[in-house]
Amino acid sequence: MEVEPPKELLKPLQLPQRILTGPGPSNCSQRVLKALEQQVLGHTHPEMFQLMDEIKAGLRYAFQTKNNLTLAISASGHGGLEAAIGNVLERGENMLIVKAGIWAERAADMAGRLGIRVDFMETEFGVAFGLREFELAVSEYRPKAVFVVHSESSAGLKQPLEGLGDIVHKYGGLLIVDTVASLGAEPFFADAWGIDVVYTGSQKALGAPAGITPISFSPAAEKKILTRKSPVPVFYWDMTWLGRYWNCFDPRTPRPYHHTISATLVYGLREALAQLAEEGLAASWARHANVSQKFHEGLARRGYQLFVKQPQHRLKTVTAIMLPDGVEAQPIIRYAMDRYNLEFSGGLGPTAGKVIRIGLMGVNATSGHADLVLRGLDDAVKYAKSCQL
Ligand code: PMP
Repeated sequence: MEVEPPKELLKPLQLPQRILTGPGPSNCSQRVLKALEQQVLGHTHPEMFQLMDEIKAGLRYAFQTKNNLTLAISASGHGGLEAAIGNVLERGENMLIVKAGIWAERAADMAGRLGIRVDFMETEFGVAFGLREFELAVSEYRPKAVFVVHSESSAGLKQPLEGLGDIVHKYGGLLIVDTVASLGAEPFFADAWGIDVVYTGSQKALGAPAGITPISFSPAAEKKILTRKSPVPVFYWDMTWLGRYWNCFDPRTPRPYHHTISATLVYGLREALAQLAEEGLAASWARHANVSQKFHEGLARRGYQLFVKQPQHRLKTVTAIMLPDGVEAQPIIRYAMDRYNLEFSGGLGPTAGKVIRIGLMGVNATSGHADLVLRGLDDAVKYAKSCQL
């Protein structure tokens, strides 16, 4: 053999136990972890199809939708974004992207690669936009689809969505919404709010591992996909295949082999959704609201400023805290990890170098975690200030 077995792989696997209080992923519950230990099943076994059907039902509940085309794709949140754009838009069509942070930039990058024309609606960073300015932009560009982020995790901003669907539909388009950092934690009603494509992350408030991204398409979005002039450009995201694999169309259609879904991720997501169903959406929203209120009050008592100024537009899940003058993010992040085993994160995109981001979601949305994070932040900032001396 010219290449020997690597020595590092001959040592046992060793992993730290971390408290994931950054913008995601968050920790999995014991119940989800137990599910992940189970032996794999084949991707077309009847038991696997049964679990996939249970996931579909759980996702319809989580998204508050009756959409047939509701499933999970084998990818992290970025895959949801790329699948959303790639399925409902064709090369040469135009898309309006509300520019509110890094996810808008990623959407524009993906759309550009797919040959989709992009226009932007500019917004003030960290500030939610209103219906009037939204309608102005939609009426000017008349896009085939509009992309909006519900939970702008780079800024800790929650964008209200009520009324956006009606405006987009009035001008003949479809509304795509990213709820990666909010679903399960913030009230969300896909059908009542007229949302045509919505995807989320498995690894944030839902509390499963990353890699299995829920997505749902309204009847109008489904029609657009089924009447496309050209095939979906990426086979892996093609909903005409995935919809059959997930039994979303005519139930008599045989479920084809499209790809080998990760059995363990299916178990994990199934259990995460079962926990959400047991707790109840309203109770989960209330728990996240109470914990974030306690956390934000604790931050205010200590004199911290939040990046998002209007309290009603602050996300319950991810909080962006302005760095105190002259203090850098890196020593805070390092200290919190070394001394408290807590994950904190710096800014992203436009907030880079300006904020510390802390996430309390899923099983980490507890009052105890809020207290621990506040203590860790106090000490970490003291340490970071001493580094500046
Ligand atoms: N959208 C939002 C709002 C996010 O917070 C994230 C992840 N931080 C993503 C999309 C991308 O998800 P992933 O990292 O799972 O690909």
